[in-house]
Amino acid sequence: MNFGFVCRSCGQRQSFRPGPSTCSCGGTLLVEYDLERAGRTLTKESLKHRVSSMWRYRELLPVQHEDHIISLGEGWSPLIRMHQAERLLPVGKLWVKREEQNPTGSFKSRGFSAALSIARAHGIKKVAVNSNGNAASALAAYAAYAGMEAYVFVPRDCPGLIVEECVQYGAHTCLVDGFIHDAGKIISDGQQVQGWYNVGTLKEPGRAEGKKTMGLELAEQLNWKLPDVIIYPTGGGSGVIGMWNAFQQLKQLGFINGDLPRMVSVQEAGCQPLVDSMAGSGEFKPQVKHVISSPTGMRVPNPPDGHLILSILQESGGTAVAVTREEIQQAGAAYGRLGISASPEGAATLAGLTRLLDQSWIRPDDEVVLFNTSHAVKYLPWKPASSLPVVKTYQDWLQAVK
Ligand SMILES: *Cc1c(COP(=O)(O)O)cnc(C)c1O
Repeated sequence: MNFGFVCRSCGQRQSFRPGPSTCSCGGTLLVEYDLERAGRTLTKESLKHRVSSMWRYRELLPVQHEDHIISLGEGWSPLIRMHQAERLLPVGKLWVKREEQNPTGSFKSRGFSAALSIARAHGIKKVAVNSNGNAASALAAYAAYAGMEAYVFVPRDCPGLIVEECVQYGAHTCLVDGFIHDAGKIISDGQQVQGWYNVGTLKEPGRAEGKKTMGLELAEQLNWKLPDVIIYPTGGGSGVIGMWNAFQQLKQLGFINGDLPRMVSVQEAGCQPLVDSMAGSGEFKPQVKHVISSPTGMRVPNPPDGHLILSILQESGGTAVAVTREEIQQAGAAYGRLGISASPEGAATLAGLTRLLDQSWIRPDDEVVLFNTSHAVKYLPWKPASSLPVVKTYQDWLQAVK
């Protein structure tokens, strides 16, 4: 195999396997590749002739055999230059990475394409995820396509249309009276007995590896010259972790050089553990009380490895910024007038840009990329089918499905 694990905290190396990507020291295991070998076939020239999906970077994804790849055409999303906005805002260049164009209407497609390909390579048939919506619908779609059984657990206040999507894809769909980590507890309590393969954030290696391809694409689409600033709506953090990893690998491959982008995490005020930790001691602390933000992909009070996200923001010279619900709404409308359908998370990046321009944190010659991670239409009001079970604990779930 040309890949294995390395612990981001203690540096220990281990052989690759599906399942928990946590080291015995508690650190997150990242996938490490034999880059010298990868570089023999993965060249700037060879990329010109490859598939228009994230699998164009096959050498940097942890799936050995092509037959195991489960792809619905994810990735290679457009990177659009925002000329009109550039005239209105004091910024050098501005792009939007249109992740809402992915097969399930959000960038979650990338992570699940990778995660379920790994699962297929290891004969796994039953998969489960806790999610604020988009991860659940992506799992549901990819599991259906792969012929696997999907179990999804989402907080009951999550966008109804996204819940409906899960039902459409035939997933066992359950609403949870709590937050995303409460939904995660149901899976960890039941996974042994139910035989669920847990594809929650950082519970296995595929999610972060799939999201890594956003960083690879960005570099390729900008002709191997990265922007000064990346603004990314952050929840569980696999996007930040994945992209940062992508940049390190591209550096080692000799595809890019120089300074890496300043990474900016945007969160909605009311659930902003990264923002508070960055402003506080600089050590990561989960948000334990008063979580009052909207149910979006950014509402993750206790991400699985907040330390790692925070250390990346710091290492890159980046920051974390909180924006209000009103600012997000206004930014969504502004995006619409610029021709982009943005989900609240995507809109938050434009709101974050506005804030950072006001604070002069972003300089007039900075080149900036915003990530529009999902579509506005997925968040339109919709009541999910009343027949779905609503539970608090794994015991409740057992009762509900009996
Ligand atoms: C999951 C999600 C996020 C948060 O992404 P992470 O990489 O988990 O931090 C942002 N936006 C949307 C639309 C999402 O679905």
